[in-house]
Parts: sequence; C-alpha cells; structure tokens
Amino acid sequence: MRDARKISVASFASLAESLCDICHLFGERQWCLATSGNFSARLDSDHFMITQSGKDKSKLTPEDLMICNMQGRPEDRGLIPSAETALHLCLYHHDPDIGAVFHTHSATATALSRHADSAVAITGYEMQKAFAGIRSHETGLSVPVFDNTQDMAALAKNLEDCLGNSPSPAPGFLIRGHGLYAWGKDVTEAQRHLEAMEFLLSCVWHDRSATRQ
Ligand SMILES: [Zn+2]
Repeated sequence: MRDARKISVASFASLAESLCDICHLFGERQWCLATSGNFSARLDSDHFMITQSGKDKSKLTPEDLMICNMQGRPEDRGLIPSAETALHLCLYHHDPDIGAVFHTHSATATALSRHADSAVAITGYEMQKAFAGIRSHETGLSVPVFDNTQDMAALAKNLEDCLGNSPSPAPGFLIRGHGLYAWGKDVTEAQRHLEAMEFLLSCVWHDRSATRQ
C-alpha cells in the first residue's frame, strides 16, 4: 500500500507518466528487449520510484512502477523492485542532485563493453556537449566498465569506489556484457545523457570496426 502521507498522488502520477513515455521510446529503439533494463526517479529525499522486476518496458504502465525508500525497501507491499535496485540506490546516495537513473541493454553498447578494458575513452565528438558541464568536443570523457556479476552488493561497492575516486566522471558506466547506466538531475537530463551515451558508444564501436578494415 502506497503511503500517501509521504508521497503526493500528483507527484507520483506526473513522474510515472514521464518514465513510461521514456520507456516506450527506448523500447522502440530496442534498448531494453525481453523485459531488460530498469528506470528510476527520485520522488523526495527519502523515496524513489523504480520499475518492478520483469516488466516489458515497451508497454510499461504506471502500475508497473513502485516506490522504495532510500534503504531500498519497497513501500508497496508484495511488489518486487528491479534486481539492480542497489545500483540506483548507490547513485542516489552518492549525489543528492541525481534525480533519475536509467539502464539499457542495447546490442552495440553491450558488445563494445566486451572489447574494453576498465574504461571506454570518448573524445572528439560534438555529441559530448550533450553532457551537463561539457562545452567542447575536445573535453575527454572516460566511461568506466565494471565486470558483470550477479552479486549486486559487490557491483554497487565497485561503483561506489569508482565514484569516490573520480571527482567529475561521465554521467554513466558500462557493465561488461550487460549494458549501460546513465543518470541526470531529472528525467529530462537523464534521458539526454543516456541517449548521448548510447550514440557515442555506438560511434566508438563503428570507429573501431572501420579501423580494423
Ligand atoms: Zn541490467
């Protein structure tokens, strides 16, 4: 049962509608096939909404979203949040200005992650200016790559350590053979960052293919 004392119905409905629209768009682009991917948005200092486990993002409805508190516990009794909720939580705890976190499983970013070391370097692309605070294509970006594991606590620890070591990292990271995370101050910025990241990683992949020919 949703606790109406803490979350206003209006704020939930408006954010849920935005998340559903973004999920449908990303679903059309085949970035979250087979119920993969997960999407969340901060509701207030103590709560965020997140996609339930196993929902088809291309057909997501507000009923497929649920509320968790900042300890990761569901406020909606009986509902199961995404298996990767710990990674969303890690980001929300790391930076109170992060308002939304999106995760996709595009074929190109996933394939690229299997041919990268600990990071993918991105430089020289105009699209880099889509990231908050970047004003030139010459500003180098480094997208961290973490090895995949089913141990979400271990993965969250790796992410936390990486964020602590990099004062101004790119607003995203890859999990090897798995997919991409990106975030922003709100759903609009998170969408822009994720789209830019998917585009740039795709460019790196095509650049490497061209170089090999
Ligand atoms: Zn995933």
